[in-house]
Amino acid sequence: MKSAIKSGKMKYIAVLSLITAAFVLISVFYLFGVSIVLEEDNRIYFDEIAFETANTVESRLNNLLNSIRNYSYRFTEFEGLTEAEQNTLLHETANASGFHDFVYINADGNALSARYGEAVLSNRDYFRNPFLLGTDYVSVGIVGHFTTEVMNMFSVPVLSKGEISGVLSGALESVYVKELINTDTFDGKSSSYIMNSEGLILLIPNNDILNIDAGFSLLEMAELTSGSEDAVFELLGANNAFGNFSFTFENENYFASFKSIGISEWMVITVIRTGDIAAVTFNVFGMVVIFTFISMLITSVAIIILGIRHWVFNKKFRETSDERDNFKNTDLLTGGPSFDKFITNVVDIFDKTEPDTGTYAMISMDINKFRTVNDHLGHDEGSRILIKLSELIQRNLTENETYTRKNADSFYILIKYVSDIDIFGRLDTLINDTYYQVEEFKLILSFGIYKIDDLTMDVRSIIDRADLARRTIKDNNESSYAFFDDNMLTKIREEKRIESIMEFALESNEFKVYLQPKYDLNNHTYIIGAEALVRWFRDGKMIPPGGFIPIFERNGFIVKIDRFVFEEVCKQQKIWLNRGYEMRTISVNMSRMNLQEPRFVRDLYEICTKYNVPTKYFEIEITESVAFENLETLTRVFNELKNYGFHISIDDFGTGYSSLNMLKNLPVDVLKIDRSFLADAKDERANNIISHVISLALSLHMKTICEGIETEEQVNLLSGLNCDMAQGFYFARPMPIDDYEKLLYSDNKVTS
Ligand code: C2E
Ligand code: MG
Ligand code: MG
Repeated sequence: MKSAIKSGKMKYIAVLSLITAAFVLISVFYLFGVSIVLEEDNRIYFDEIAFETANTVESRLNNLLNSIRNYSYRFTEFEGLTEAEQNTLLHETANASGFHDFVYINADGNALSARYGEAVLSNRDYFRNPFLLGTDYVSVGIVGHFTTEVMNMFSVPVLSKGEISGVLSGALESVYVKELINTDTFDGKSSSYIMNSEGLILLIPNNDILNIDAGFSLLEMAELTSGSEDAVFELLGANNAFGNFSFTFENENYFASFKSIGISEWMVITVIRTGDIAAVTFNVFGMVVIFTFISMLITSVAIIILGIRHWVFNKKFRETSDERDNFKNTDLLTGGPSFDKFITNVVDIFDKTEPDTGTYAMISMDINKFRTVNDHLGHDEGSRILIKLSELIQRNLTENETYTRKNADSFYILIKYVSDIDIFGRLDTLINDTYYQVEEFKLILSFGIYKIDDLTMDVRSIIDRADLARRTIKDNNESSYAFFDDNMLTKIREEKRIESIMEFALESNEFKVYLQPKYDLNNHTYIIGAEALVRWFRDGKMIPPGGFIPIFERNGFIVKIDRFVFEEVCKQQKIWLNRGYEMRTISVNMSRMNLQEPRFVRDLYEICTKYNVPTKYFEIEITESVAFENLETLTRVFNELKNYGFHISIDDFGTGYSSLNMLKNLPVDVLKIDRSFLADAKDERANNIISHVISLALSLHMKTICEGIETEEQVNLLSGLNCDMAQGFYFARPMPIDDYEKLLYSDNKVTS
């Protein structure tokens, strides 16, 4: 790094020397030229000075653009950063650069500014030009979207993997830009302006001898010497164009020289009163010296300042990257290695293990029902237990072993072993340590073990196998373990196969919606509505939801399936609505993953709007265990659903660990009591619980429905307990929509 900075400095010095040498050469050239100049050559001489002036202006603007381009390399991954990281990067850049502000504009024209936050800048020329043409761009002085000060936007395209992914724009106050084009040539008797390809003056220097405003059309407002108009117009906007002309403006005669500067199709036009050229000629020597001196001074100061800033920024950047690395490598709660760091550690350990010298096992460990720990002891105590556990694991690690905590209570440990006995020994130690050291709560641990036979295997696949083994352990009352075996691999393959066909299956209508009617327990023949349940038909066979829903829940595809089911139900409701049938609410299951989607409720609402079906004909079923995961999110989503007019039910109530007490502040309409409560209708204790749940739900103004009713006995029991509704094979199985329609509307019940 040091040598990079040094070589950076060397570059500055080299550039400084080159510029100085160039100025000295130019000075000598002028000195020599001027000594032989005659009166009539003055214009040519002015042309040359104007030419150099244009070059100076161009290089100053280019310097600024270059510095932005240097920053732009840090923005290639900008859109992948978190919001906080994006803001930090913009602020650091703005602070280090000396620009007023920095704005990153993405491909859609959405901008984030260090100072003023978000804006849409898709139609701004300083976005469109760099983005569409890939060129650097400087805008005219604008009163920014963000500020009342007049600014010029210096924009460069941001490249990511060779493609333009966005635009980085630095805003610089126009007063400074005006100074940049102030060149002070000819004793201040000439002025240089920036003119666009249509002949409009865009930037005016501080020493404006014409006394004009931006937007002034020099070529139209001034009287051009006859014969020169065509030539001038032809040259405007051309690449590498330069030329001169005389004109009269407000009764004064002027001479102008212009040259294009490859930025934004701009030209620098330098203007002087005709009479001033000759007068100045005699003072040329002094002028050249002063010009050279000032330019050198400005350049040197600029280079030194830029150099210092560059160094300071690099230093800060290095410090923050160190912090970031630290942040990325450490689990903030336990201080142990982060999951990413763990993966790198494992790869490193495998890399330096000679073949056949070590056998490793990956252990996936999880605390059973850790949520109950948080629930009983509070979040802080829960965290303390995780830290303790992390310490216990770390304490027993030997050389070339590592561990991590991923998510709440799931740990991975890489251990060395010779025989299975070593593994049992290690697990026993951990279980015992935990038992004695975490006294507040009896932690039940589950371990999935994968004995690694191929050290070149992808670490994530190794972890998947350990996880898979752990997931085969069902609810247990003691800590237990399971080894990975090849049957599980068949399961993984099946999972992968399902993943590879699921998108196609959805597009080719392999998923169908079935409806299972719900009955009123006060009038056993009355159907109150139905629950929509998805079915997958492939090669003439039906795959039950249990075979794909858990997989889709893991890979996120469930969100698409749920939208699909919702839309199918919506289409069907629309048909019945159009026919004037009496409408019944249909409930649709929504998996927990939907809750993380910011647009979840809004999307459902938009589907209803698309088909013009009122939201009150839908009930959204969310399973109970979600409440336990994140009551805060659930409250937000439920309130949103309620505001749009959807009904809400809590599915599988009784299988999670929440209580009605937790749910009492949620706008829940229906409580769906899980069928496991009905396992044994003769069990008095179970009946007592159902009875209490029903009366509590009633007191909270929720309706109750029992799922999985299979016998008349169960029906009678529930009727006696004042349960409102029932759903189950006793009444009807889930059925295709057509069958449901026949069942419900065979007598064409029309809305009264
Ligand atoms: P769930 O939401 O609790 O749905 C009720 C399940 O109980 C359905 O299973 C239904 O067929 C079954 N069932 C109904 N009556 C009886 C009965 O009397 N006895 C027995 N033994 N079972 C009965 P299914 O259709 O296999 O669905 C299983 C689970 O899959 C559902 O449980 C739900 O959690 C999920 N699921 C189904 N469709 C969707 C969907 O479109 N989206 C989401 N996210 N999940 C769905
Ligand atoms: Mg359900
Ligand atoms: Mg259910």
